[in-house]
Amino acid sequence: AKRLIRMGVAKACLLEPQDEVESGGIPVALVIGGGIAGMTAALNLTRQGFHVHLVEKEAQLGGRLLQINRLCPTDEEAFGLIGPIIQEVEEHGQITLYVSSTVSEVSGYVGNFQITVAADDGEQKFDAGTIIVATGADVLQPVGMYGYGQFPNVLTQLELEDRLKAEPPIVAGAVLINCVGSRIPERPYCSRVCCMTSLKNATQLKKLNPDAHVYVLHRDLLTYGVEFERYYRQAMKAGVRFLRYDLENPPQIVGRGRAENVVVWDALRGRELHLPVDLVVLSTPLVPGPDNATISRLLKVPLGESGFFLEAHIKLRPVEFATDGIYVCGTTRWPADVSESISQAYAASTKAAIPMRMGVVTAEAITAYSEPSFCTGCGTCVVTCPFNAIELQMHGNGRQVASVNVVQCKGCGSCVAACPSKAMQQRGFTDWQVLRMIEACGSWID
Ligand code: SF4
Ligand code: SF4
Repeated sequence: AKRLIRMGVAKACLLEPQDEVESGGIPVALVIGGGIAGMTAALNLTRQGFHVHLVEKEAQLGGRLLQINRLCPTDEEAFGLIGPIIQEVEEHGQITLYVSSTVSEVSGYVGNFQITVAADDGEQKFDAGTIIVATGADVLQPVGMYGYGQFPNVLTQLELEDRLKAEPPIVAGAVLINCVGSRIPERPYCSRVCCMTSLKNATQLKKLNPDAHVYVLHRDLLTYGVEFERYYRQAMKAGVRFLRYDLENPPQIVGRGRAENVVVWDALRGRELHLPVDLVVLSTPLVPGPDNATISRLLKVPLGESGFFLEAHIKLRPVEFATDGIYVCGTTRWPADVSESISQAYAASTKAAIPMRMGVVTAEAITAYSEPSFCTGCGTCVVTCPFNAIELQMHGNGRQVASVNVVQCKGCGSCVAACPSKAMQQRGFTDWQVLRMIEACGSWID
């Protein structure tokens, strides 16, 4: 204890007063992605009085929900939900809409981002205080799996949704196979939404023809929550049959020119079943969107192992990136259903509103700084900083040196440890302070 006190005193002798650095915040947000999550976030921000720039890469707002027939577990038409939201966003005076556009450049920091949006007719630039990423996810195309691409009557759930909207198929036998391409070594995660989609569409097929033999082949059924559990029981009551298969013994699709039978091992009865089918539907997982890598590079925010965006902390800082002022919601973060995407959009937009409402951003007191006379401009600290807080700037004598943006700096100390020239220091933990602490610790043995 005495040594600790001596070390503390030695450090305190070299303390210097620190000014709290404040930076102004622009009350304007950028939302990337015009699906249900992006539009909900944008509308929530406008209700709080902020202007929003909404950038959507497609020509039409609405995202993946435009392809969906009905919602689960309410069975309401998906367009009944998304249609009025699209209209409200398109007509909203506080939302500047950029369709068929992408974000091509981002610089700055929380409160003061400079954004460039690119479209076929040129570029537009504007400033924003916060950024919300809601670019959605893709759906795996199961090419070469279970006869997909080989038999015309083997569809994905999304393709079945299209048919249910346009010309509902009346079938005598259908098999829906879950976990196609998910929970396997190369894609180990559960996509969370496919089981309920499968239940919903199996029930729809039964409604269209109550005499149809409709089977759901699953590895486990994820029907979490009271509503989904009730939906599952309703599907069973409607006559949908459920069979479990395992990865070692997957179902086989057989037929000539089209899928005619699904052969599956029924573990309960201990025998092989041959299920005649008119239709085979594959439940494939949500996979990271094709633009994730580009957006990750532009915003300097991380992607997780599976390719979805990685928030700062799944429990302590959900929907926030480690970089201040940038937030994430919806399926771009992780597979989520519609209600979860909406909840996350409210969470992200509410958090994004905080720095904009405060009007100023206060920097951490313990930040890094570089000594220009020692800095060789090697750039090691620039690539080391996880918060993108350092850039090389031209110094007075015509050479480049590191410069720390104190508003972005989180005082993690990584750059100080990485700098080979000892040019980078951290306020409150300078080399001299640390050395004095070590000296104080070892100078006097009790
Ligand atoms: S202390 Fe951490 S956050 Fe600050 S500039 Fe250095 S590496 Fe970046
Ligand atoms: S690592 Fe050190 S020497 Fe290299 S640019 Fe950064 S501060 Fe300068």
